[in-house]
Amino acid sequence: MNVSDTEIVNSILMEEGMQPVNEPEEAEVIFINTCSIRENAEERVWNRLKEFKALKRERKDRDMTVGVLGCMAERIREQIMEKEELVDLVVGPDAYRDLPKLLSDVDDGQKAANTILSLEETYADIKPVRRNDNGVSAFVTIMRGCDNMCAFCVVPFTRGRERSRTAESIIEELQELSDQGYKEVTLLGQNVNSYDDGEHSFADLMYKASQVDPEMRIRFSSPHPKDFPEELLEIIAEQPNLCNYIHIPAQSGNNEVLERMRRPYTREQYLELVEKMREIIPGVTLSTDIITGFCGETEEEHEDTMSLMAKVKYDLAYMFAYSERGRTLAQRKYEDDVPEDVKKRRLSEIIEQQMNIQEELNKKEIGRRHLVLVEGTSKRSDEQLCGRTDTNKMVVFDREEHIEKGDYVEVTITDCTSATLMGDLIKKSSIQEYSRETVAA
Ligand code: SAH
Ligand code: SF4
Repeated sequence: MNVSDTEIVNSILMEEGMQPVNEPEEAEVIFINTCSIRENAEERVWNRLKEFKALKRERKDRDMTVGVLGCMAERIREQIMEKEELVDLVVGPDAYRDLPKLLSDVDDGQKAANTILSLEETYADIKPVRRNDNGVSAFVTIMRGCDNMCAFCVVPFTRGRERSRTAESIIEELQELSDQGYKEVTLLGQNVNSYDDGEHSFADLMYKASQVDPEMRIRFSSPHPKDFPEELLEIIAEQPNLCNYIHIPAQSGNNEVLERMRRPYTREQYLELVEKMREIIPGVTLSTDIITGFCGETEEEHEDTMSLMAKVKYDLAYMFAYSERGRTLAQRKYEDDVPEDVKKRRLSEIIEQQMNIQEELNKKEIGRRHLVLVEGTSKRSDEQLCGRTDTNKMVVFDREEHIEKGDYVEVTITDCTSATLMGDLIKKSSIQEYSRETVAA
């Protein structure tokens, strides 16, 4: 989400004639786009600000403007402005259109801030400037904000109310990306499947997105378990370019904890949804988010999370120790009473179990054939290329002359670790060719 927001900020600033540079040393203006989701995300920002302070001291000859953007700006504007004399401006996630004016206020010698949240802002008319992607995969924000108010989460306070871009403006952007040669788009939103522009549901939008370019893969992040109607699952199953990978954040496997968290489902309902997904979309891979050590979590409740994860067998999981955030219901109502070392121990237990499950699942991939979208050279060796399967698994295979970034290739999986699959190249292919072959088989 922040990468995508930065692409919008790029666009607004470049319209003003500003040019991006590659190193902070060269910059006259530095913006840091921030996250407040957990304490350690904010700590990283404070440390980065320290580095910028040193930089400013070093080059007293030239002026340097520093701005804090995003969720931290929203959450702790006063604290940043007072504590960090270095920071000249503070701008929340709905106020980026105001950046040129705020920058000119700073030029006039003032400190500047705008952290007003909006009910309408979607930046729909702003063409993101994508500077740091690989030219193959792009993000497209389709909705902003969140109305769910999960007890632990700061997002509704920093990003405001839910609102969706019109389907028309999204489809237009997808068409442009296809014309520019992009092969994969991830539709983004804090609650992406609650999308509703007044005329289209998320299922409608996914169908429309699938029709833009049959060779462009569509993914989405991050959805909420409450908004998965069967219609949506069927559309994903039917359209070959809608990827068969779904993220379904569970947070916990225990009903009492889920209730304290204000998650609107039970363990049983969640498991039913998983079952339905696997029935309607055969071969679908699943990932999740889990929080350990939420307020009042007992050892038995933690065991329920372990058993949920063992039962579902996720292909991927993002796992976090609970971090108390100001203004949230949990902070106001409950005590953050699980000791730090217990949180950490529970976290390492679920991580260890998850790594074993991933390895087990990846071993089952050996011998299978997959369609891989080539993203570029593998991190480990120039002699190898890497890319993802439709099911979002990273595959590494030997480079061949005629294969380039952005190509689709068929591979047979030959080996694996818990994080990566190794494969042998069969041939260059396409989504349409591959889906004809698999239907025939
Ligand atoms: N909208 C998405 C989540 C966005 S935040 C959703 O509902 O799924 C991404 C993840 O961060 C959450 O799913 C949750 O697992 C984690 N998270 C949020 N607040 C947290 C907190 N206070 N402490 C630890 N993890 C948190
Ligand atoms: Fe936070 Fe996601 Fe819950 Fe919204 S749905 S409050 S973003 S965890």
